[in-house]
Formats: sequence, structure tokens, C-alpha cells
Amino acid sequence: MLLKSRIESDLLKLLRILNTRMSLTEDDLKQYLYQKKGYEGEVAFDLFTAANLNNEFFILNDLMLEITHSKFQLDSTLIIQDTIILCEVKNYEGNYFYKDGEFLIYGAQKPITNPLHQIKRAETLLQQYLKKNGFHFRILPYLVFINPNFFLYQAPQNDSIIFPPQLGSFMKKLNSKPSNLNGMHRKLADQLIDDHKIESPYPKLPAYDYHSLQKGMTCAICSSFFVTCGERKLTCNDCGFEEELESAVVQSIEEFKLLFPDLKITTNIIHDWCTVVESKKTIRKFLTMNYRLLGYGKYSHFETILKE
Ligand SMILES: [Zn+2]
Repeated sequence: MLLKSRIESDLLKLLRILNTRMSLTEDDLKQYLYQKKGYEGEVAFDLFTAANLNNEFFILNDLMLEITHSKFQLDSTLIIQDTIILCEVKNYEGNYFYKDGEFLIYGAQKPITNPLHQIKRAETLLQQYLKKNGFHFRILPYLVFINPNFFLYQAPQNDSIIFPPQLGSFMKKLNSKPSNLNGMHRKLADQLIDDHKIESPYPKLPAYDYHSLQKGMTCAICSSFFVTCGERKLTCNDCGFEEELESAVVQSIEEFKLLFPDLKITTNIIHDWCTVVESKKTIRKFLTMNYRLLGYGKYSHFETILKE
């Protein structure tokens, strides 16, 4: 049973928006692509487990926990009987090399951050977390390589590493475990969800402000700014995608909110932000329909909560 699903992090959303609206430095672009690839791998693993896992499990995706000032992230946590199965999912692609306990990209000299150390750290910290909260579970950590185009030369014989061709048998193994979930398992799952921490994405972003970003609405499919605004539709001149104008404007407002959490939402600023919608009346109409208005007259702005 899936108790916590994975959603795209605000950091990834923001990096994607910034990548469209400014030119990122090489490092920021690297961070964006790394986040994107990681997320895609995790989603692929979620889909695979959803399709292949038929045993009774509590599944918690994407947890960020903290114990004695150390934060640790768990990609996929499966709770069963007396065991917590931790899956650290890696979406590495291409050829890698294993040497002296380290992972190297084939042809490169410097090792990458060791994913085996990463799962060991997560296991140790989770152990402390369980002890502090009075839970007694065995932890089985796994390092899962999800990408079928990943290859590791001189791979170590290590049962906790799951390579792409082993995913099927890994699921079979999990399906054959005895499982009898009760209130105690649920208590643990609820506590983990309660303790999940959402990290602010803003310290990790490049510097930007309202004036430094390219304004305008973008195509939902190809991110192009080359869009034409009709009465009810927004049409992309690059890929031809057509979208309801209202939902496209709401999407632009949501991007604006995420980028500038401290700026007030007014008709004028959203009109300027969207650029291609000529009529302020239209912008005001969509704002009124989708958000709540606070204050009166000149100083009124929209509360940034979408109406139900
Ligand atoms: Zn397009």
C-alpha cells in the first residue's frame, strides 16, 4: 500500500523554470540535469514496483529525515513484518568501473560519490532514528541501478546491489517475504511521514530577481516562448501545442509564486509577467476565478491560495 507518493521537488521545478528564463552557469545546469535524471530514475522505480510488487507492504517514497542534526534521504522505504527495506535508486547511465571499493565513470580517473557509503550512512542514521523512537526493525538497504543502459565493469559480488537485469528477481524475492502488517507498522509509517522534512530550495538556486528573468508565457510541452495568445487558447508556434488560456495563465502564476514567494500577486504584475495576454481584464478575470482577493482598490492583491 502506497502511503507516501513522490512528487517533483520545488528545487527541480525551480531549476527547470530558471533554465528556461535565464542562462544557467555550467554548475547550475549540472545540478538541474542531475536532479532531473535522479527524479526520472526514482519515478521509473516507483512504476516498476507498482507493477511488480504484490506483497503487503507499506511504501513510503522520498523521505527526508533528521537525527541528531544529520539529515538523510530515503528514496524508497518498504515496511514489511519485522523489516524495513531501503532502496537507494540510481539512474546512472553508460559505463562505470569499480575499483578498490570505489565507483568511477569509465575513462575518468576520479571516483564519484560512493553510493555504497550513501546507503550505509542512511542505514546507520535510520537505525538511530528507530532506536530513539522505540521501534524494533531490521534494516535491509539496497542500492538499485534502474537504468538499463548502465554497466559496471568489475562489479563487486554484493547482495545489496541490484543491477537492472536483477530487478525482476529482486521483486520476486520481496514478494516471497512473509508479511502481516498491523497497527505497529502503521504507527511507524505515520511517524516517518510526520517527521518528513521539506527543505527550502532557495539557498541552492542561482541568484535571480524579477527583472533578470525572461518574462512571457511558455509552452507546456516544449517550453518555447514563441506562443500566440488567442481569446481562449494559447498556441505554441514551435510545436503546435494548444492549451486553454486560463490554465496556461494559472500555470504562469504558479511559476511566478514559486520563483518569488515574497512578491504580492497583483493584476499588473501578472499582466507584465505573462506579457502575451494583451488585456488586463482577462488577467484579472482569471485571477478572480482562481484566487482570493485581499484588500480593496489600489492596494488589493490576490491571496496565493488556489480556490478549491
Ligand atoms: Zn511547444
